[in-house]
Amino acid sequence: MTYQETQARPEMQDAILRHLTYTIGKDADHATLHDWRMALSFAVRDRIVDSWFASTRAAYGAGAKRVYYLSMEFLIGRLLGDALVNLRADAEARAAVEALGLDFDKVLHDEPDAALGNGGLGRLAACFLESLSTLACPAMGYGIRYEHGLFRQSFEGGRQVEEAETWLQQRHPWEFERPEAIYPVGFGGHVAEREGKMVWTPGEAVLAEAHDTPVVGWEGRWTNTLRLWGARAVDPLDLQRFNYGDYLGAAAPEMLARSISRVLYPDDTTPAGKELRLKQEYFFTAASLHDILRRFDSEHGDIRALPDKVAIQLNDTHPAIAGPELVRLLHDERGLPFDEAVDLARATLNYTNHTLLPEALEKWPVDLMGRLLPRHMMLIERIDADHAARHPGRSVPIVAEGEVNMGTLSFVMANRVNGVSALHTELVKETVFADLHALHPARIVNQTNGVTPRRWLHACNPRLSGIITGAIGEAWVGDLERLSEFEAHLGDAGLQEEIAGAKRANKVDLSNWVAAAHGVSLDPDAMFDVQIKRIHEYKRQHLNILEAIALWQAIRANPGAGWTPRVKIFGGKAAPGYVFAKKIIHLINDVARVLNADPVTSPYLKVVFLPNYNVTLAERLIPAADLSEQISTAGKEASGTGNMKFALNGALTVGTLDGANVEIRDHVGAENFFLFGMTAPEVVARRGLHDHAAQAIAADPRLAAALEAIEQGAFSSDDPGRFHDITGNLRGPDYFLVCSDFSDYWRAQRGVDAAYRDPGRWTRMAALNTARSGWFSSDRTIRGYMADIWGAAPVGPGA
Ligand SMILES: *Cc1c(COP(=O)(O)O)cnc(C)c1O
Repeated sequence: MTYQETQARPEMQDAILRHLTYTIGKDADHATLHDWRMALSFAVRDRIVDSWFASTRAAYGAGAKRVYYLSMEFLIGRLLGDALVNLRADAEARAAVEALGLDFDKVLHDEPDAALGNGGLGRLAACFLESLSTLACPAMGYGIRYEHGLFRQSFEGGRQVEEAETWLQQRHPWEFERPEAIYPVGFGGHVAEREGKMVWTPGEAVLAEAHDTPVVGWEGRWTNTLRLWGARAVDPLDLQRFNYGDYLGAAAPEMLARSISRVLYPDDTTPAGKELRLKQEYFFTAASLHDILRRFDSEHGDIRALPDKVAIQLNDTHPAIAGPELVRLLHDERGLPFDEAVDLARATLNYTNHTLLPEALEKWPVDLMGRLLPRHMMLIERIDADHAARHPGRSVPIVAEGEVNMGTLSFVMANRVNGVSALHTELVKETVFADLHALHPARIVNQTNGVTPRRWLHACNPRLSGIITGAIGEAWVGDLERLSEFEAHLGDAGLQEEIAGAKRANKVDLSNWVAAAHGVSLDPDAMFDVQIKRIHEYKRQHLNILEAIALWQAIRANPGAGWTPRVKIFGGKAAPGYVFAKKIIHLINDVARVLNADPVTSPYLKVVFLPNYNVTLAERLIPAADLSEQISTAGKEASGTGNMKFALNGALTVGTLDGANVEIRDHVGAENFFLFGMTAPEVVARRGLHDHAAQAIAADPRLAAALEAIEQGAFSSDDPGRFHDITGNLRGPDYFLVCSDFSDYWRAQRGVDAAYRDPGRWTRMAALNTARSGWFSSDRTIRGYMADIWGAAPVGPGA
């Protein structure tokens, strides 16, 4: 069948065949699954482009203020299904693909998962882009086009193994190269004074090349752009060396330049301490600011209007160099007085803090900064001195002990600084930025995170979405607070049955997939207890697995006691250099092997660790979860967004009063949330006890027995000492208070068991979690940023 042979086809089918023929260059008889996926993607992309152009014209026409979201990470996942849902073309595409004799779901699952981020911070950026489009706010995301995203994880003998991720090995159908948007970015060199002006002459330069991906909002009303920068050499080939036969040396400049956008740093909580990381940060920030000013110049005359027309958000401190860079552009290159340049930059920039963990607050050695960015180092010192002069005796130094504190720099150069949940924002005021908050009491504001309901309920959980729409109509998809209307329907026994049936069907789907992909059989009637997130001591996956061990021991001691069947599902990656987190993975896998092989206990308790957690896996797991584990040490999880996805999909939370858990519990009701553990102030007080762990272990025989089982090699008979690092830490410093929270966690979990044994009660609690989670839409969050931080308004057709 060639394109010409078939006439009068439905539009989507025609578009797919046209792209298969003329874009991919294949005929239908010889097309692979990949070819079909590409053809469908291009057909869908065509429709997005129409909305994209209309949005761009409307934004220019309105002379609207634009929002720029600078983020080192965008954890976007797959785009095809999401685009189809937002264009409301998914049913049409399914029909077209099936009419062509293909399995629609297979086509969708052919797409690689774009993992240009580590976890929550990058996923937040992706949800924000979608909400900005849904709300018709003229905006652009700026980041790096990493050739290799977050590593692919597998297990060998229970250990994490990392492999390079290759999402760009195939053609990426969503992006448009923009060879006209290409800027040089300099590094090193020297600064000299010429005619009273400071002139920076970089010692080397690379080119930043733009690649644009359109991001379509709900119902295709508005489309914004994600612009990712790839690095290229200014002179790609050293021809002289090539002609002398030195082929490797000839290609060296290109290899060196490309290394800047080669890989995502696989760690979101420790400064990489690598020159390349600082280069990446400056590379994408400089290119983005250059682009922003070019666009501003094309629309507006007077640079002093910059803060009226431009709002820039720095997602964490990674783009913090934007402060000095913008001052450099305004002062050195455009000749504004220094003070005015600083004031303009500060009125334009805003900064989101994502963590209080001291090891995650970026600091760069002064000598590295001075060598790589000599002019910026001078400007940072001047900004620092200027801030000190404005607040004599009370200033907080940006440069101290030979390091540049990027958090302080971001704060000093920001119009607004925001935390990401109510609790986190209060802790930001009381701890990291206490002194700066005293100087600038109006600067810190809260914007509690959210998630896009299109991807995280409507698309990933069509069964529940359909039930909700059947009860209250479909307006909730674009206005999630309307989910509250669902609550009035929950008294209907038929509806409750439908909700329970949808969860059961989602669990069957997941079980089938786990059996096929990983060879493990799960009982869909068991409680699915899920903890999926980065592996980190503060997130306390080890608390969860200790409880599993204690439960296993309790079941063995009394198998007939009427246990509630449970499957504990784990997913998450450990940073390659984070040895302790990798040990936790190994422990969970070892415990799983022993427990799952135990004929007495395995009908009641199984443990599975699914490898390679990413957005796609989250989309599979969350709709099938009964229980959501949000068990971080209070005061350590800034917000969490996984917690919101679960509650929205009708999973109940067992959690601490940490991050946005606090607000989730307030919204869904304390009686529909399994709370345990110390509060943030109690955590601080408890750490003052030098033997808090020993006391907790002495007081709880279950905990003592679980630790002893690990130490005696119950899960590592080939190497009984394998987990001494973990048990030694828990018996000793136990900074994250796993032992001190264990007893209360056990108590809460038995309450979970009891609730699950009453299916009617469980379903009602779960449905209330869904109905009352409307506030956790990233649309609400973005409205908050627009009003309180950016001073931006919606435009045009979506307004
Ligand atoms: C939502 C999400 C996260 C964030 O999860 P938390 O539980 O909030 O840490 C991380 N990774 C992926 C793939 C996600 O979808």
